[in-house]
Amino acid sequence: MKIYGHNGKVLRVDLSNRAITEEELPEIMYRRYLGGGALSLYYLLKELKPSVDPLGPENMLIFAASAVTGTPALGFSRFTVAAKSPITGAFGEAEAGGWWGPELKFSGFDAIIIKGKANKPVYLWIHNGKAELREASHLWGQLARETQETIRKELGDEKIRIALIGPGGEKLVKFACILNELKHANGRTGLGAVMGAKNLKAIAVRGNKKMSLYDPERVREIVKRVLETYKENPGTLGEVGTARGVMPLNADGILPTRNFTSGSFEKAEDICGETMRDTILVGRGTCYACAVRCKREVKVDEPYKVDPIYGGPEYETIAALGSLCGIGDLKALALANQICGAYTIDTISTGTTIAFAMECFEKGIITKKDTGGIELKFGNVEAMLQMVEQIGKREGFGNLLAEGVKIAAEKIGKDAQEFAMHVKGLPLPLHEPRGKTGVGLGYALSPTGADHLEIPHDPFFESEAGLKGILPLGIIEPLSAYDLSSRKVRMFMYLQQLYNLFNSIGLCIFTANPFGPLSINNVVDYTNAVTGWDTSLWELMKVGERHSNMSRIFNLREGFTSKDDCLPDRFFQSLEGGTLKGKKIYFQEFQQAVKTYYQMMGWDENGFPLKGKLEELELEWAYGPRPS
Ligand code: SF4
Repeated sequence: MKIYGHNGKVLRVDLSNRAITEEELPEIMYRRYLGGGALSLYYLLKELKPSVDPLGPENMLIFAASAVTGTPALGFSRFTVAAKSPITGAFGEAEAGGWWGPELKFSGFDAIIIKGKANKPVYLWIHNGKAELREASHLWGQLARETQETIRKELGDEKIRIALIGPGGEKLVKFACILNELKHANGRTGLGAVMGAKNLKAIAVRGNKKMSLYDPERVREIVKRVLETYKENPGTLGEVGTARGVMPLNADGILPTRNFTSGSFEKAEDICGETMRDTILVGRGTCYACAVRCKREVKVDEPYKVDPIYGGPEYETIAALGSLCGIGDLKALALANQICGAYTIDTISTGTTIAFAMECFEKGIITKKDTGGIELKFGNVEAMLQMVEQIGKREGFGNLLAEGVKIAAEKIGKDAQEFAMHVKGLPLPLHEPRGKTGVGLGYALSPTGADHLEIPHDPFFESEAGLKGILPLGIIEPLSAYDLSSRKVRMFMYLQQLYNLFNSIGLCIFTANPFGPLSINNVVDYTNAVTGWDTSLWELMKVGERHSNMSRIFNLREGFTSKDDCLPDRFFQSLEGGTLKGKKIYFQEFQQAVKTYYQMMGWDENGFPLKGKLEELELEWAYGPRPS
């Protein structure tokens, strides 16, 4: 049978015995799981035993594109990396854009499953249907840029796409990321450390296979229509980047500042996207086939040297290392972004962990004796930069912070836990749940820990105009961003399945409604034109639901309970500054919303998926023993 949109092939690599094999994946698997997060979860649940050490050879590391990655529409460039996370011990998943995912498809494979540990550093080279492990001892210790340049030179092709780790991954920083093209990160949940623990420095891919399309004419039509829609209403994302959010969030009192004590930062204007555009921006990067070009490329000559090769800081980076640490120096943030890239450490976790340490320092819980003489106060630019570097190198006080905010707080003791902003061990991203309750539910209920990309954020859906993009889901009434009623839970639950679908089909959220030109119905039409499946929004949303249920089971197997579906205590206390000063979330109301969510999902009062729910999703094989 002819297949469309994908290769029907998964590559399996066992690093312990250097065995490389291919697996044919039947069409039904693509239709049921699509790829990305859902397909990764299928393999993790089937093949990974519970309770393994995330940094041991037993952990699996999966790279997965989707049934439509690498086809011509904008936005379908993303791929997932998944494993048991070393920072949470839960399901770990992170998506990245760029060209690596499409190039994997062109090389002849849709996913890679990695097991074991190499006895010395290696990198994987996949080229037009062939795969081999190559010696990487000479690359061990190299920064990201040097690693990319050396591999490209060695393989004699400048267009090779490389997903790699720097010293942060090698030294097992618990929130190390994986970088491709030096700009696109599988940022969260510490998957770079899993790669480092396996002695796997990089995966280089190249191929010239084109994906066959079921209905090329229809594909062309949809691409053309979506591009026209984008040209009619391009918005500001391309011009200003994700940091366009800094000023509006600051005005609304929800720009996380000084470790989430305040929602407004007096130097917000100095670090916003418009200031970046007018000062240090030298180019706009993009991902495969994308017209939006939202990626930043910045250059600084003094007082620091920052090279555009590492791109430029996104909103999350600017808020994490900027307002959250009380830093209003854009050039320093550009440098911090570059250091994080060179060492491959997640900018969000790095910033949230440093902000935690700054608050501990200000409160006298740690002193200069602990920090090696560094005055680790909010607003101290040099201290922030030193800490970023120390974390990347696992040196000095940075070695403790490299464990992540939860473990660092436990080791520091005293009252440090109070200032450790995390969910399930994952440091918080830069969105204030006291001003967006759906984001609060997302932080608490995401299987990967505090994740800001669990749903599009509440303020979009306060007006009829904002609802336009999600009407096909049956969400037809606006709701306040502060609402926590069952209607908000319903909205959250539907949008969560939509984003799980996007993470499985490899679609960038910025190209789809409500941010970008692709409508939900475009996604369905396009999937049909590429694959010839005659699928529907109903069937695709079931993939999102499978993702939620499989990840829930993964975490239950690892010992997580409903007690872990919570927020840091700080959010049940009043905001201390900004226009939302005094705003808090009510604990009982939040707990009730979590229980309502379980019911809507078909889970019992402890958050266990019911047998019938799993059977409805064709996941009966995943039903396991329940605690007595
Ligand atoms: S919108 Fe930005 S992040 Fe998304 S695919 Fe386009 S360039 Fe990449």
